[in-house]
Amino acid sequence: MITKANTILKNVFGYENFRPLQKEIIEHILDKKDTLVIMPTGGGKSLCYQIPALIFEGLTVVVSPLISLMKDQVEQLNELGVSAVMLNSTLSPEDYQINTAKILNKKVKLLYVAPETLMMERTITMLSKVKVDCITVDEAHCISEWGHDFRPEYRDISKIRSRFNGVVLLGFTATATPHVQDDIVKNLELRTPKKFVASFDRKNLHIQIAEKRDPFSQTINFLEEHKDQSGIIYCFSRRQVDELYEELHARKYSVRPYHAGLSDADRAKSQELFIKDDVQIIVATIAFGMGINKPNVRFVVHYDLPKNIESYYQEIGRAGRDGLTAHCLLLFGYGDIRKINYFIDQKDEKEQRIAKMHLESLIRFAESNFCRRVPLLGYFGENYSIDNCGMCDNCESPEKDLIDTTEEAQKFLSCIKRTEEFYGAMHIVDVLRGSKSAKVFSKGHDKISTYGIGQDHSKEVWLNLLKQFIQNNLITKDIEFGSLKITDLGYEVLKGTRKVKGTIEVEEAAFKSKPAAKLDYNKSLFEVLRSKRKELADKSNVPPYVIFPDKTLIDMSAKYPNSLLELQNIHGIGQAKLKKYGNIFLKVLQDYYAANEVKQNFAQSNKIHKKTINKSRRYKIIGDAYRSGTSVESLLREFGIKFPTLINHLQTYIENDEALDTSQLLEFVTVSKAEQKKVFDSFTKHGTLTLKETFEELNGAVSYEDLRVLRVCYLGR
Ligand code: ADP
Repeated sequence: MITKANTILKNVFGYENFRPLQKEIIEHILDKKDTLVIMPTGGGKSLCYQIPALIFEGLTVVVSPLISLMKDQVEQLNELGVSAVMLNSTLSPEDYQINTAKILNKKVKLLYVAPETLMMERTITMLSKVKVDCITVDEAHCISEWGHDFRPEYRDISKIRSRFNGVVLLGFTATATPHVQDDIVKNLELRTPKKFVASFDRKNLHIQIAEKRDPFSQTINFLEEHKDQSGIIYCFSRRQVDELYEELHARKYSVRPYHAGLSDADRAKSQELFIKDDVQIIVATIAFGMGINKPNVRFVVHYDLPKNIESYYQEIGRAGRDGLTAHCLLLFGYGDIRKINYFIDQKDEKEQRIAKMHLESLIRFAESNFCRRVPLLGYFGENYSIDNCGMCDNCESPEKDLIDTTEEAQKFLSCIKRTEEFYGAMHIVDVLRGSKSAKVFSKGHDKISTYGIGQDHSKEVWLNLLKQFIQNNLITKDIEFGSLKITDLGYEVLKGTRKVKGTIEVEEAAFKSKPAAKLDYNKSLFEVLRSKRKELADKSNVPPYVIFPDKTLIDMSAKYPNSLLELQNIHGIGQAKLKKYGNIFLKVLQDYYAANEVKQNFAQSNKIHKKTINKSRRYKIIGDAYRSGTSVESLLREFGIKFPTLINHLQTYIENDEALDTSQLLEFVTVSKAEQKKVFDSFTKHGTLTLKETFEELNGAVSYEDLRVLRVCYLGR
């Protein structure tokens, strides 16, 4: 069965490899076992039920709450040559009839249906005349009152299961809260379901937070770095949206506003122009985003502070669904905190406390000097333990002088433990510093062994250290009451099996803007292909990404395919698309080659990435030192950097056309020679711009850390 799934992946969808968990989920569904899938937006949920739908003999019914999403999915599937239809209240009676007839004639593999339509007796009667193998509940969190978009009609889905013999029931959601997940299992009445939880790390999102100084100029600078790209700029208020829109419009940016104060028609127009690539930038309040499935959103700017980490994650999640790098810039201003606090103060007491906790987590996240992914994923209960994500401002900035703070961490942790994980930050610091406060005495905390063991540091230093301990996921803070708890990692530090690094001195967070990494492909060819795609999309009245995602065009502009056979190896080209568009695009490509005398040199174009990661000359000094024979150990010591940073510098060195013998680095990878060879072969196949393809091709057998090192070895060969 799974071989069949692999064939469909390639032939229908045009993809080479499954993403993490997809294969396991598909296998489970094919066994007709109830399944709950939790995957972030853009993680690739749809494929998990679409592939089984193509293998099952009967029909797969997909319950979807948003008509725009339903339409989008059906259009995309039809383009792939998959027979899918929808039933909802927006269809004309004729179309409804046509779709129903197709279902009854067993011409349809996937039916997308609104929950209220599914519940109608006439729909159920119609469906009971055909074999239904699977009911998929998309956006399954809508079944929970705890979720953010509760839909009462979802509650009845479980009731109709009994009307279809042997049907498997699936729930899909991007909501991470366990409470909502439990609700889904309970209310859908899933039968001993297996839960698949994918990582919430969106590796292709580059996260940057800059101090908000002159937001307008900062935004203009950012937009200049992202010319001709699609993106969303989120503002706090409607007024701010209007102002920023006017300013950008006056400067001739391709931009539209979106907020709840505009008419329905205006909003729909903005959305449509954006989706169809007729407008590049949307300036919006958070009202914008739900139901937008546009995969090539290349950036999200937060002009103002988002409400909390969860909203932030959701908003940046709208970028880069196609898996290509997307940039997320948050302008962090202390003035915005006051604004949000003002709104929080209008709430009742309990809500205020929770909202303030959320805001605090967000501030800690913004102020952090460590990898952004640690607090971000920590918020969703995920331990992010990679040393250097390479995709956030902090991981890219030069090393700070980190010192060993294990002893401080142990003091702090043991004080939390001695006071039974019941107290908040201030009390713990008071106990550590030997405070003579009434609270300390009344609780008898002047008698415990950790009383006064932290007198060598001021209160500010301890609070700053605590911030780092929380960022490093050693300690968590109870969302409601503020009491501090020790995590599993924290216990490792207490036991002495894990070391901690950080800074002791209290410093102001430093922010700086980073240049965006550039992708290596022929931009002018991409533009030519893009305009062809737009022409075809307009003709069929669908968004351009329904014809081909950007990644397909980028892949063409990097690999220069010159035959239908070669086009088949391009990302996202399955058989239906090859048949429909192969010759059209081949002609465009060949005309371009002829007009521009393009020498097809696939291997070469894949090997040399002139990525301008770091304009500073530090890479040059370090690279020269390595070349002159300084050992890796000495380099780390002399420059006070960590190994992943050394690897980054050496990569930049090579990318700037400096020759380097990188064989010494092979000592630092943990995989066998045979696996190294597999990695190199995969690099030749996929290129080295991103490591994801190789990681996935090897089914995660080689870690990203090793892949980064091997990439440098490969580029240096
Ligand atoms: P979600 O529903 O989880 O938000 P989607 O199912 O829309 O995500 O998938 C996001 C994008 O990733 C889509 O463009 C999809 O075609 C693409 N995708 C999914 N699985 C794969 C895969 N195995 N290889 C390449 N692209 C994939």
